[in-house]
Amino acid sequence: MKQKKGTFASVLFFAGQYRWKMVVSVALAICSVAGGLLPYLGVYRIILLFFEETPSKEQILPWIGLCAAGYLIKQVFHGLSTTFSHISAYHILENIRLALSEKLMRLPLGDTLSKTAGEWKSVIVDRVETIELPLAHMVPEGTSNLLLPVCVFAYMLVIDPLLALSALACVPIGGIVYGIMMKNYSSQYDKYMKASNHVNSVIIEYTEGIQVIKAFNQSTGSYQKYANSVEEFKNFTLDWFRSTWGLMNLGAAILPSTLLGILPTGILLYLAGNLTPARLTLGIILSLSVIGPVSWFNTAVNDYKSIQYAIRDVNEVLGLAELLETKEEIPLKDFGISIKQVYFSYGKRTKEVFRGLDLELPQGSYTALVGPSGGGKSTVARLIARFWDVTEGSITIGGTDIRKIPLTQLAKMVSYVSQENFLFNCSLLENIRLGKPEASEREVLEAARAAKCEEFISRLEKGWDTLAGEAGAKLSGGERQRIAIARAILKDAPVVILDEATAFTDPENEAQLQASIARLTKGKTLLVIAHRLSTIKDADNIVLINKGNIEAAGSHEQMLRASKLYRQMWEAHIGAKSWSAGNKGTDRKEDMCHV
Ligand code: ADP
Repeated sequence: MKQKKGTFASVLFFAGQYRWKMVVSVALAICSVAGGLLPYLGVYRIILLFFEETPSKEQILPWIGLCAAGYLIKQVFHGLSTTFSHISAYHILENIRLALSEKLMRLPLGDTLSKTAGEWKSVIVDRVETIELPLAHMVPEGTSNLLLPVCVFAYMLVIDPLLALSALACVPIGGIVYGIMMKNYSSQYDKYMKASNHVNSVIIEYTEGIQVIKAFNQSTGSYQKYANSVEEFKNFTLDWFRSTWGLMNLGAAILPSTLLGILPTGILLYLAGNLTPARLTLGIILSLSVIGPVSWFNTAVNDYKSIQYAIRDVNEVLGLAELLETKEEIPLKDFGISIKQVYFSYGKRTKEVFRGLDLELPQGSYTALVGPSGGGKSTVARLIARFWDVTEGSITIGGTDIRKIPLTQLAKMVSYVSQENFLFNCSLLENIRLGKPEASEREVLEAARAAKCEEFISRLEKGWDTLAGEAGAKLSGGERQRIAIARAILKDAPVVILDEATAFTDPENEAQLQASIARLTKGKTLLVIAHRLSTIKDADNIVLINKGNIEAAGSHEQMLRASKLYRQMWEAHIGAKSWSAGNKGTDRKEDMCHV
């Protein structure tokens, strides 16, 4: 979706095919206003009757009927208008939220991760929600509140132009008072939104970090930060209110005081013989009817502002640069990966991770990336999965630049399992099925068995139907990893990337898991990142990456001979393993396992 800039244009844009409901809502509101004017006409006629003679019941009743019908029309059409405006408001909310979630899919992962979950929630849920009430009410109420005074004023002009104008005597004074009050409104509202965002993020940080706060006994300090920001927000809003309440009440008292102008003028006109008592009475009644709409003005300004800010935040997200995508699926000659002269940094102001990286992963080969932490191993994996785009250079699969491959095709081709495995709060079976939504139950169970999930799932009371808990909170790191591996096994993609995918797996299960992974990855282009070097020693090509550069590459034996750093890493690893094996008194045969 291409986003629109202005608030009104954006609202219409998001209304999409429900735009006509907004139009119907306005039309119904106009009918409601027209109905609302009928009682004035009826009252006028009744007054006339009384001034002329003592009217009979038959003379009065039709006008009373007109008043009642007008009132009924007003209420019924107002109700219908509000119904239509609510329907369109909720569809606008839905369209905005869908547009935001679609956008998230097309954004580079970096942009998605640059906001916390709390910040995303604040835009997609809270900010968008603020639009509903004003939007649903602004259309019908706005129409009648703008139209009614105009119609009433036109009617008054017909009665007597001078009388009509005198009803507006207080408007300039009230306008000046409101003008002074609203002088800093935009900047104050801006500060208010910032303060509100700040207090929201502190509250979210406090609740999300409660585990760390408790573990490190930081409850007093953290609570203080939380309490301070809540207090600051309260002080800000109260100060703003205090600075405006005087003028606000003065304006609210002056602006709708139509009687101050119309009474003296009307009496003078009457005394001069230019106005009948009936017309004077009607003029006074009509002038009173504009008080409500004028008072609505204050609420409308606030409502408009909240819509404006919500739309601004939404448009900001929708305006973020997307990963460029082609739509047509491209036939690839094979699934060999070629990284050529790649330059990359995570942001404009962050240090470059790669400055001219070259790496070949031939079709069906097994490549392992090893090296000190922070060297860029995971970044290589993420760039191949196109979570980010390279700054310069290219990554090709089967000879085609991955930027030219549709994201859906790329996602089908690449299985990516990392340390952080998000599980949805649905059953464990469904979590595995995500790898291949059309898979039969038998296929899912087979994948789960291959990933060694059976053993821990059988211990759970509800077995396969156990809900994973939010973000898989009910499972251990190793168990989550095994579910993620089962997903990858089920997906059966031609390119498999395992970024420390078995790091949390306990040594007892690791050998068997590795054997399953070996079966899964047979004939596929496989990239494994692992710090347990024993698990990757049989790779076709072990690549040592240090500070974004390839320091050495080759088979395990070649690397032991050629790279001092690799040798040191290997010895440290073997030392750690034998120490741990000695402690456990077990024979660590999995050292020899194959991936
Ligand atoms: P490795 O996998 O070898 O430990 P990474 O690829 O994770 O290394 O990181 C390479 C460099 O990129 C490090 O300096 C790290 O701090 C930085 N880095 C990693 N992820 C991000 C990110 N999301 N935003 C900014 N910098 C990052």
